[in-house]
Amino acid sequence: MTKAADQYLDDAQHYVQAQDGRSWFDSLLFAEVLDCVDQGVAVWSSSGHLLSCNDSYQAHLISGVALDLGVHFSDLATLAADRGMVFIDDQDREIDVKERIALFGTQNLTIESRHPSGRVVVIQEKRSPTGLTVMTSTDVTRLRQQQATLEERFHQLQNAREESDRHAGHLEEIGELLRQEKERAEVASRTKTRFLANMSHELRTPLNAIIGFSEIMRAEAFGELGSPKYREYADDIHASGAHLLDLINDILDMSKIEAGKYELQWSRVHPAKILETAARMVRWRAEEAGIDLVIPEAGDWPAIDMDARAIKQVLLNLLSNAIKFTQEGGRVSVEVMMTSKEFSFVVEDTGVGIEASELAKVMRPFERSGHHLFDSNEGTGLGLALSNALVHLHGGSLVLESDAGVGTRVTVKLPIG
Ligand code: ATP
Ligand code: MG
Repeated sequence: MTKAADQYLDDAQHYVQAQDGRSWFDSLLFAEVLDCVDQGVAVWSSSGHLLSCNDSYQAHLISGVALDLGVHFSDLATLAADRGMVFIDDQDREIDVKERIALFGTQNLTIESRHPSGRVVVIQEKRSPTGLTVMTSTDVTRLRQQQATLEERFHQLQNAREESDRHAGHLEEIGELLRQEKERAEVASRTKTRFLANMSHELRTPLNAIIGFSEIMRAEAFGELGSPKYREYADDIHASGAHLLDLINDILDMSKIEAGKYELQWSRVHPAKILETAARMVRWRAEEAGIDLVIPEAGDWPAIDMDARAIKQVLLNLLSNAIKFTQEGGRVSVEVMMTSKEFSFVVEDTGVGIEASELAKVMRPFERSGHHLFDSNEGTGLGLALSNALVHLHGGSLVLESDAGVGTRVTVKLPIG
């Protein structure tokens, strides 16, 4: 018998004595219980020989190798290290097999064993009062995997959060830029409105003088002008002055609307009256151009609330467009509809029409359809934009439909009440 084996027997003896009256039945029962738990349990003698262990302990230490009772801890640790097992101490430090063996039986400790297969086992070592070393082993492989997955998920979330923080920062910067731009635009818009208001006042005053005096001259109120040429010039001065005044008024109206400063002057008005005035103002132009102007007979329409000047301007703009863009022999007609909820009118012509691709463009201020580059039709491109804006201020709608070469149809709907 070798010395080691002698020692083992001594230890066993010592162990049995330590049972101190405990029955063998208790020991058997205890062994059976240990074989049923997932945790590994092993008892080592004070000299480092294996006294007992359950199946889980065997599986946790070296799978596929049956542990013989009496084996020395240093042999088992060396075999495990040869098979690639790595020992990690409770400071998370890798220790070599010699250090591991030196630690055995000296103190209560926790060691992690990492198998090359990826299995991770946590071993706790404790000294019993009688000098035995009791080891418990727990397989934490799945727990570690779950931990790793959770950590990865946590990192992903953290990255996503950092990313979203960065985006939020960008958004804030963009928001600040937009705010500054908006402020700049508002200042520019206020300046523009003030400039236009001043300019239009400055321009209107002399224009009124030009219009007024040319009117007196046309009428030869203070005596004959002499040459018929002077009368003709006075007519021209008057017409040009009136045209310029219209233009200035349109520009001022448009800029007021854009600045949200246009206020409608509501009053109760008979639509027939507006229709009649507008028709009277454009009839001579239609006749001059050889266009058939068809205006409906005034129906039994009730008076409704609207800004009469604005709606008359809309009707005039649409009628003058229809006449301007229709050739001799063509036709311009107006249709009126009145229900309990809506007052609507349609201005239709058989003129040159607008290309479908330009329908949206011509609704914008100062935009005209392409063919004007080659013809002599005058205009600033404000009529439709202004009409549309005025109708919208009334809570209504303006729809432009056109067929190039066939004609154009504009429908205006105004809510009542
Ligand atoms: P302004 O009305 O300011 O004197 P304008 O008549 O050119 O100038 P809008 O009334 O806004 O401006 O019309 C814009 C453009 O839409 C016109 O220049 C024209 O090209 C096109 N358009 C408008 N109405 C008609 C129509 N009835 N038939 C054909 N084209 C039209
Ligand atoms: Mg026009």
